[in-house]
Amino acid sequence: MDILREPRITLIARPQFLEPAHLPVQWKGESSDGERIAEFAGRLCYMSQHNPAGRTTAEYLTNILKQGHGSVFEHSTYVVLIEGISRSCSHELVRHRAGWGYSQLSQRYVDESHAAFVMPPAIQGDALLEAEWTAQVVAAQTAYVAAVEHLMARYAWVDDKIHRRKLAREAARSVLPNATEVKIVASANVRAWRTMLELRLGEGAELEIRRMAVACLRLLQGEAAALFGDFEIYPAGDGSEAGRVGFHKV
Ligand SMILES: Cc1cc2nc3c(=O)[nH]c(=O)nc-3n(C[C@H](O)[C@H](O)[C@H](O)COP(=O)(O)OP(=O)(O)OC[C@H]3O[C@@H](n4cnc5c(N)ncnc54)[C@H](O)[C@@H]3O)c2cc1C
Repeated sequence: MDILREPRITLIARPQFLEPAHLPVQWKGESSDGERIAEFAGRLCYMSQHNPAGRTTAEYLTNILKQGHGSVFEHSTYVVLIEGISRSCSHELVRHRAGWGYSQLSQRYVDESHAAFVMPPAIQGDALLEAEWTAQVVAAQTAYVAAVEHLMARYAWVDDKIHRRKLAREAARSVLPNATEVKIVASANVRAWRTMLELRLGEGAELEIRRMAVACLRLLQGEAAALFGDFEIYPAGDGSEAGRVGFHKV
């Protein structure tokens, strides 16, 4: 059985900007497509493509953030594959609705007999707690395997094997713990990313989703510094990492 100790975040799609030839912007400075889409949208509102203030993309977008002109950030979407998070963490993530889309591994269709489990950050590093927790998830997985076997026998009369397996797995999954690993594709526009990150990077957020948010932020800052550069990661009092935002919810 695999015990996972940190999330794995993989960017699977980034924005692509197609500049309209009839409305070219006087760009200044380096920028990614996601940043240019936001700048283009902002400049369209005021027809300021000629860039009268001579701002770089980073300066322009910082000003937009300062003004709270949030809709500008809804046009660039980043899609990530998130692995190595627990079912309880994904349950918290999917509470973020506006601007988000999700596709999550189905415990009805997928056999969880060999599922991995995510050790909560609060347990990691304490040998006794880790041993107790590991024994608990091993017992839960053993119970799951037994439940699937018994349910398959109970529904032997169902001819369609796929349907029979689904019936067994959807009932047996009830004994799997919140720590069961899920894989989820999550897509969000920049405004939605920023709202989630602000809430989940805070020291009040649960440790696992905070760790996931920190990993997502690092990835997004690498993609588009002008869109996420006002977030700061810092060491929290408990030794883990937390983050704060420069420009509150736009
Ligand atoms: C530290 C922490 C503790 C939490 N504890 C709990 C808990 O104990 N129990 C629990 O159930 N949840 C809990 N939550 C989840 C929380 O209540 C939110 O569901 C979650 O953070 C998603 O936030 P959101 O609704 O702002 O996000 P989104 O759904 O992404 O919405 C973004 C923004 O859009 C606007 N919006 C979205 N939908 C509506 C709407 N229907 N009407 C009006 N405006 C809307 C709001 O401005 C909202 O902030 C907790 C969250 C955090 C960060």
